[in-house]
Amino acid sequence: MNSKIRPLNLEDLVKGENHEENVYVPMTSRIRDKPRFDTVKIVIPMLTRRSFSYKHLTIGITHALKNTIKDKEESNIASGLPLLQKTPNLAYFTQIYIQRPKEIQTLSKLVKDLPMQIDYLSKTLFLPRIKGYENKKTLVLDLDETLTHSVKNSSQSHVRVKITEDSMVNINIRPYAQDLLKVASQDFEIVIFTASQYKYANAILDHLDPMKKYIHYRLYRENCYEFQGHFIKDLRILGNRDMKDIIIVDNSLVSFALQVDNGIPITTWTMDLKDTQLRLVMEYLRVIKTARDVRQVNRNVFGLSKLVKDSLSENVILT
Ligand SMILES: [Mg+2]
Repeated sequence: MNSKIRPLNLEDLVKGENHEENVYVPMTSRIRDKPRFDTVKIVIPMLTRRSFSYKHLTIGITHALKNTIKDKEESNIASGLPLLQKTPNLAYFTQIYIQRPKEIQTLSKLVKDLPMQIDYLSKTLFLPRIKGYENKKTLVLDLDETLTHSVKNSSQSHVRVKITEDSMVNINIRPYAQDLLKVASQDFEIVIFTASQYKYANAILDHLDPMKKYIHYRLYRENCYEFQGHFIKDLRILGNRDMKDIIIVDNSLVSFALQVDNGIPITTWTMDLKDTQLRLVMEYLRVIKTARDVRQVNRNVFGLSKLVKDSLSENVILT
């Protein structure tokens, strides 16, 4: 067993290690009534149940019962099921990564190989909150093959963008890319996080958002964490944002290897003008904007962290 192998920020996976048992619960609190006991099933965290005294256990059960109805209502939203039921197109959207088993393997290997300690503090940014966006979630968008694709031949491209005085780039713009920026910026703080160089990326982003109205922040290759030839987008560098409120849309699954449950996988795009993935992303964002924890919704809808967990070998310690 290799104790050094331990994926980061997959701590939610261990929460499945709960123990379910029957306990007796008093069904009345009135002193004069003879206590009536009933049997209910509750879930007690495996790691802590031994430390419960009877008194604490009773308090725990009372809280658990009180929270049952509330949790049922909220878990329905968190499961993403209403979303899938309302928008049948999303069934296709959520299946896209299953058609890419090789990428799941690459992602899993990377998760397994990632070092336990990563120095993200030296890269951490404290991006000021923009007025009106103080309480909004953060939508992190990749650029290449998610929103645009650059091509060598200008005759095959949609637009030609000037990078410097003597260099140009030909790009194709994915259908709904600008609509996504416009619509999503009403409900989300938008951060473009690209593994590309800033001059190239800036030129394209200036074209997509010429008035600088929709994209609030731009992060580049130097903001990525480079590991085994991959540019990983460690969302922890968004120092003053809460991980439960950050979503990343990226065609490369390894980009969000450090925070799998924050990721929305999307197909790699180059030129298909009939592509509707970004329209589906917009539909998904409409629901997830109200989630208490975006990771829970993503986990239930995409199940990526489970796929990663399943494909990891038994020798890996998921703690
Ligand atoms: Mg990309």
